[in-house]
Amino acid sequence: MSQRGASELQGRLRRARRVAVLTGAGVSAESGVPTFRGTEGLWRQHRAEDLATPEAFRRDPKLVWEWYDWRRQLIAKCLPNPAHQAIAALERDAPEFLLITQNVDGLHRKAGSVRLVELHGNLWRVRCVRDERTMENFDVPLRQIPPRCECGAPLRPDVVWFGEALPAEALRRAFDAAESCEVFLVVGTSAVVQPAASLPMIAREHGAYVAEVNLEPTPLTSIAHESHHGKAGEILPRLLGFPSGRPGSDNFEFRNSNFAISPPDPHR
Ligand SMILES: [Zn+2]
Repeated sequence: MSQRGASELQGRLRRARRVAVLTGAGVSAESGVPTFRGTEGLWRQHRAEDLATPEAFRRDPKLVWEWYDWRRQLIAKCLPNPAHQAIAALERDAPEFLLITQNVDGLHRKAGSVRLVELHGNLWRVRCVRDERTMENFDVPLRQIPPRCECGAPLRPDVVWFGEALPAEALRRAFDAAESCEVFLVVGTSAVVQPAASLPMIAREHGAYVAEVNLEPTPLTSIAHESHHGKAGEILPRLLGFPSGRPGSDNFEFRNSNFAISPPDPHR
């Protein structure tokens, strides 16, 4: 049901000790991150579904890395938008908080989110195919394709490819958060792909207040306590009590002191 209980969410968030947020491609799209799916996602006649697989990497690691290098160059130009910033601000005041994202672009971290799990990995991390060691790599463009580990083996992007399992630890944390949170907020994802799709259901079954912000009605709309349809970057700051809608800007004021901005705590 659209727009139901707009102020209800703010009150719930103020009182909640445990908050969880699930985000997807819709949040990134407002920062100009392409989806790399369908015909728009074509790169040198290749589809994402044919490049983002373990088989493609075994067959031609250079080709796969050239595609990721191109994607990283596009994404390096993108900045977090007010939705990313509102979610980071929400985290700062929540005693227990987990952001569960399906996005691999690293924009949530760039906006200041710290307590997060990246279900599909992160484009700015690489992983050794031999010893599984992971490390950050922000080179744009890459200096070497494919990049190599100190041990000499090729590195791969530390992302989840088609046909691969999601990281078990990230999943465990996501499900734990869904089961124990008092408010579960879904932003920019229709949540039709499993296992992320089951998280809002689990949260609701365990008594959480479920709210969604999506461009259009989704399968989630029927189970959410409140739904808001439109651009997350416009709706979310307002919904969370950020009246100027520009978190991070100089004239930004918080109507609700519960969301008072404080410097990110590096130890948290
Ligand atoms: Zn290695």
